[in-house]
Amino acid sequence: MAASLPETQRAVCFHPPAYDIRVESVPIPRIVHPDDAIVKINLAGLCGSDLHIYRGHEGVSEVAICGHELVGEVVALGASFSADAIDRPELYSTLKIGDKVVSPFTVSCGECQFCRLGATCRCVHSTLFGIPVLPGGQAQYARIPKAGGTLYSLSSLQSHSYSGRTIDISSITDSSLILLADILPTGVFAALQVLQHPKLSPMLTGTPYPSSSFLPYSHAPLKAQASTPLQSSDRLLSIAVIGLGPVGVCATVALLDMLASLAKDRGLRFQVIAIDLVESRRRKMEAVYATIDKDGKGSGQFRVATVDEGVDLVREWTGGTGCNAIVEVVGNASALRLAYQLVRPFGVISSVGVHQEPPIPFTGREVYDKNVSFDFGRCPVRATFPLALDILLKRQDVFGGAGKEADLIDRVVRLDDAPEWYRVFDKGECGKVLFDPWLR
Ligand SMILES: [Zn+2]
Ligand SMILES: [Zn+2]
Repeated sequence: MAASLPETQRAVCFHPPAYDIRVESVPIPRIVHPDDAIVKINLAGLCGSDLHIYRGHEGVSEVAICGHELVGEVVALGASFSADAIDRPELYSTLKIGDKVVSPFTVSCGECQFCRLGATCRCVHSTLFGIPVLPGGQAQYARIPKAGGTLYSLSSLQSHSYSGRTIDISSITDSSLILLADILPTGVFAALQVLQHPKLSPMLTGTPYPSSSFLPYSHAPLKAQASTPLQSSDRLLSIAVIGLGPVGVCATVALLDMLASLAKDRGLRFQVIAIDLVESRRRKMEAVYATIDKDGKGSGQFRVATVDEGVDLVREWTGGTGCNAIVEVVGNASALRLAYQLVRPFGVISSVGVHQEPPIPFTGREVYDKNVSFDFGRCPVRATFPLALDILLKRQDVFGGAGKEADLIDRVVRLDDAPEWYRVFDKGECGKVLFDPWLR
């Protein structure tokens, strides 16, 4: 099944060893496996992770078509896509030519044990888009392996409702939908990893550890006799977000949305500090916070801070105890060290930054002495899609537009100008940039 496609396309190519981006004419990909789909790309994202390859940190030694964030429409499907594809992910029997799709930044089959359990980032077929073995999305067309498991179809969704408000999904722009490819699910995942952690459950349930979360017995435990009852000040949840690039902003927006909901449903009290070294990023975060309505941010305290201000504020807000949880969205040793400094004993650090430097900046003894829990690693994007889409639709005030102060997308540019935008983005002189591969 395929529309007739031209022979060649324009694509952003990385040439090793580093800092060499060229826009070149390359063959249009074809179906090579029955599970493949070919997608005509409407928009492709430029992401902080693209810079790891650009700077030569990933050791990519061959020419590669860059990019791992794309939204587009299906133009060809392999033979596996048919009405009688039973016992396979539903898109094998429902996806059609012309359907609007978003691809997560890694392949996930939807059929292995990791995928079935929701750990789609560790699918046995997992491959990152934008490396030599799997050409990426900064092009006019891309081949999507295991497409029935990997892709998310937006054409099959009509509308979504929240407390009395219905949103027509077809009205959402591509520049908004592309946030689903990576950065918004990653932000949602970073926030969920702390709020779902058993170490935070005493604050959420009002019950001390270990009865605050799952116990392997059905009978009630014996009386603890150990302490005075939890006080309301014990249940005040303090969380710091470190790093306010596009993923950090997504993580903060998702975290506030979840905290607001918990405050409404369970009377939770919270305070959040969002920290970054860069002034323009702090300003963006402040503009985003000012735009969000009460429903999406609750009435907890919220402050945007430099590192020094953040350290002082955490001390002041928590009486020197530290934060219950840290969301670390930078991915380097100094950010991790700051996370360790700010977290309280028996606290949690959720780290979604891609760490390049070999050493972890604390000793086993330091970790032991603070009982710190760590969650590291890549977001299971495909599994997180429905939650991320929910927040994307709800928060169109932040995730819907492009170019304004509180918009997450900075601008949409020509694919042919990619070399210049890689340079500008690498210097931190622009926010989130999208390539329109059809803009002349
Ligand atoms: Zn990305
Ligand atoms: Zn899988």
